[in-house]
This record gives sequence, structure tokens and C-alpha cells, in this order.
Amino acid sequence: MNLGLRNKVAIVAASSQGIGKATAESFAAEGCRVAMCARNADALKSAADQISKQHGVEVLAEPFDVTDETAVREFVKAVVDKFGSADICVTNAGGPPAKGFLGASVDDWRKAIDLNLLSTVYFAREVIPHMQRKHWGRIITITSITTKQPVPDLVLSNSVRAGVVGLVKSLANEFGKDGILVNNVGPGFTATDRLKELAKSRSAAQGSSEKEIFEGWAVDSAVKRLGEPREVADTIVWLASERASYITGQTILVDGGAYKGL
Ligand code: NAD
Repeated sequence: MNLGLRNKVAIVAASSQGIGKATAESFAAEGCRVAMCARNADALKSAADQISKQHGVEVLAEPFDVTDETAVREFVKAVVDKFGSADICVTNAGGPPAKGFLGASVDDWRKAIDLNLLSTVYFAREVIPHMQRKHWGRIITITSITTKQPVPDLVLSNSVRAGVVGLVKSLANEFGKDGILVNNVGPGFTATDRLKELAKSRSAAQGSSEKEIFEGWAVDSAVKRLGEPREVADTIVWLASERASYITGQTILVDGGAYKGL
């Protein structure tokens, strides 16, 4: 299948490891020029060097925090200065901490909104004018299965990510006329460091081992295993491609059938 992505410019936020890194790799494998960011400069450089060498594509990598509005603005400008456009923008960040409602402070709520909602707003504000000029663009947010089915002890994710879905639908409605498609991808339980973090906190709270927690998540899905970052990444790349040109405003779960609803 020709995805039609060769030479497109793909921004992937929070991409030094996990789902973000796998997504940057999948775009590079399709011949895209890739722009990556994360907070840890060394980890980011090593991921960017590996991707560029392996796929023979140009990669721009800048270390910064996606909650820094000015840094996001400067990054998108640097991408457009270097590559000439910002065709695809995948927004991503770390997940908020695992907490129940009474355990979460007001500061935790503000941080979760900054990290998981406003960071997406910052990227969208910067890339949309460039996409409008080309009358072509793709914005894809990485959120979670929590957008469809709340997960116990993830009250921050369960709540704030719903705001991202509202934003995605609003942007899809407002900018579809400009050739910009906006969708959301919700991973289920996927084997990354984030999941190890969650297993540790769940294990401490429940008194079961981390191994039991991982097995419980695997069994809870229809396919009885955890997801791989590449499986989420490939869905994102397909959604960004010419083969998904009539899909916008949607949430696609990549969760091995863990979501229990219809
Ligand atoms: P991960 O911890 O493996 O990777 C997170 C990446 O984000 C890293 O590159 C990290 O450096 C970067 N990052 C974190 N905070 C940042 C910030 N403020 N500014 C810039 N970069 C930042 O996580 P992952 O599993 O790849 O998860 C990606 C997203 O998907 C997260 O929001 C996570 O909550 C969500 N998610 C993950 C799972 C899962 O099972 N792994 C399930 C549902 C949702």
C-alpha cells in the first residue's frame, strides 16, 4: 500500500522513547523528514541519530518541555525554517501520575492540564497556519483508552484527556475546509516505561506483584497480551496517510480489544 508520505514533514512530540519514538521511526520508514523533541537531550539525540542512520532521512531534534509555549513556538518555526513545512503533527507527552480523586492536589490537576491538554493547544496553534497555506495537514493526538473507558486510579487522565477529544473534534470541524484532518489515537496497555511506572504504583497500592499487574492488564484485553509501541505507531502513520483521507474528528483505540463497550 502506498501511503503517499514520502518527503512529508512529520513532527512527533515527546519522542525520545516509547510510543513517540516508535511513531518517529514509523514516519522515517515511510520516507518522511522527522522533527522530534523531549526533555532529556542525551536520550533524544541518541533516538534521533539512530532513526536518521537507520532510515537515511533528515531528523531535527530539539530538547524542550512541551508545557513551554514559547519553546513549542520556536521549535515549529525551526522545523519550518529547515524543512519548509509542517505537514503532520503528532502531539504527545508523558502521562499524568496515577492518583485517585482525593489523592490528587489542585496543583496535580493544573500540571495535568498543562501537560496533556495545553501542550496540544500550543502545537495546534503553531502548525495550523502552515497547514492552511498548503491546504494539507494532519494533526494526531496521542491520548489513552481512558478517553472511552476510565481506568481506576487515573482520575487525571480520565478527565483531562476528555478535553483533548473535545479539542480534536472542534479542530476537525473548524479546519476540515482547509484540508486539515484531526484525529485522536488512544493506546491501551502498551509495553513502555510509562506502563512500568503504572505497574509500580498499582502494585504498591494493591499489594500484588508487578508481574501480576502486567498479567492482569494482558488478560483484560481481547487478544490477551500487551500492545507494542510499534502497533500504536503504525496506526498513527496510516491515519496521517493518503489512505485515511476521509477520516477526521475520530478517536481510534489501539488496545487489543480492552475497551468493553460497543
Ligand atoms: P513513555 O514514558 O515511554 O514516553 C514518554 C515520552 O514523553 C518520553 O520520550 C519523555 O521524554 C517524553 N516526555 C514526557 N514528558 C514530557 C514533557 N513535559 N515535554 C517533553 N517530552 C516529554 O510513555 P509512553 O508509554 O510512550 O506514553 C506516551 C503517552 O501515551 C503518554 O501520555 C501515556 O500516558 C499515554 N498512554 C500510554 C499507555 C501505555 O500503556 N504505555 C496507555 C495509555 C496511554
